[in-house]
Amino acid sequence: MSDLSNRSQEYVDGALVGFAVVGRDAHGEFVIRACNDPFIQMAGGMPADWHAFPIPFDALLPDQAGVALREQLLACFTSGAAQELQQSFTLHDGVHPWHLSLKPLRHTGSGAAVREVLVTGFDTVSKMQLAHELEVSASRFRAVVDSAYDAIVTINEHHNITFFNRAAENLFGYKSAEVLGQRIEILLPERFRANHSRNVKQFADSVQMSLRSITPPRMDESNSVYGRHRDGTIIPVEIAISKIKVNGVIEFTAVVRDISERAQLIDLLKKQAVTDALTGLPNRREFLDFVEKVLGTDDLLSVFILDIDYFKKINDSYGHDIGDEVLRVLAKVGMSIPHESGLFARWGGEEFVAALPGADAALAHRIAEALRRRFEEQDFEHAWRVKPIPFTVSIGIVTREAGERDVDALMRRADRALYAAKESGRNRVEVG
Ligand code: GH3
Ligand code: MG
Ligand code: MG
Repeated sequence: MSDLSNRSQEYVDGALVGFAVVGRDAHGEFVIRACNDPFIQMAGGMPADWHAFPIPFDALLPDQAGVALREQLLACFTSGAAQELQQSFTLHDGVHPWHLSLKPLRHTGSGAAVREVLVTGFDTVSKMQLAHELEVSASRFRAVVDSAYDAIVTINEHHNITFFNRAAENLFGYKSAEVLGQRIEILLPERFRANHSRNVKQFADSVQMSLRSITPPRMDESNSVYGRHRDGTIIPVEIAISKIKVNGVIEFTAVVRDISERAQLIDLLKKQAVTDALTGLPNRREFLDFVEKVLGTDDLLSVFILDIDYFKKINDSYGHDIGDEVLRVLAKVGMSIPHESGLFARWGGEEFVAALPGADAALAHRIAEALRRRFEEQDFEHAWRVKPIPFTVSIGIVTREAGERDVDALMRRADRALYAAKESGRNRVEVG
């Protein structure tokens, strides 16, 4: 049980509720006809010389203490209307503020006349302390959750939003007042709305109610949880959800973290992992994955390796930067190979590769030969930084044999065809 609940229980258990029935004697003086112990305690104790009821009012409540109550009693007797009174009594352990209620008691057969007044009262010290502690605790809670970096959203058992902190306002673009009482689905992308209730229920059933668990369970095992900003933007988020029971009712508190930046970074890293930095082409890994996939089917496939002739000389004569520029120009031209499902990639250094699914040797030869000629004739848009750099390429082609599955073996054959093209004079296409 929380500290606060403990205190609530203490307060209830220790509550002092005093009762007294006040009447009037033959002289019209107030007398206490009956009262319980808390009432006597409130009055500071039983007067020493009284052992039986009725007790004169002045004997039990002498001095100032009784003045206000006496006035209210009189009002109650004469007007017949109930009265309320806050009254402090100084007892041995300090000042005790009591809340007193006066109720006229009419006896059957006595008409409208008030014969007795029932006085009930309770000590409000502990109540006031409790209220104060609650207030401090609530404002501390507010301050913490509002300064929290993460969005905090609570929903009740009907999945209506009951709490929305400042970070949640920033993340989702709604003011707290706009979403309180609304269904949680308002914060979700449309495509997740239909299943959400079921997911929450499944989650609720799966989570053990443990107040001792240190880390709240996560509803998202993967990273694929998304929120929806008021303007419709989809926000990748990470969510930790706590299920708590408040007064027997289950509610969920979600701590929601915006991971847009992380998600973007992951996307970028994924892209970088398969992209050649200099040319922007797919890299060797991406190419091998692609070819392996095709080899996993029985589709026709031709591949070629392209190597720039005497590229070392270009570097030597024009410098490495111009060499890089040639590689970028070549990449751009290579990307425009007229083969829809084809992939042009950088194999490494000044070597490039193409995968042509569905192309037989003859088609692959036509494509490779056209490419070779374009480089030879500089038949492409270019803006050489200094002056045109003439260069040629050699290409080795292979076509997958029926049932061939091994990507390394296929590439080795292509490499041998390239070697043959080099051997027979360069600026050539050779089929292996
Ligand atoms: P061959 O006709 O036999 O292919 O002769 P080559 O000079 O093209 O072949 P070699 O393998 O001897 O030289 C390749 C050169 O490519 C050597 C290397 O410095 C250069 N090179 C590799 N990667 C890069 C790069 O990213 N940028 C630049 N500018 N040069 C590169
Ligand atoms: Mg080479
Ligand atoms: Mg070369």
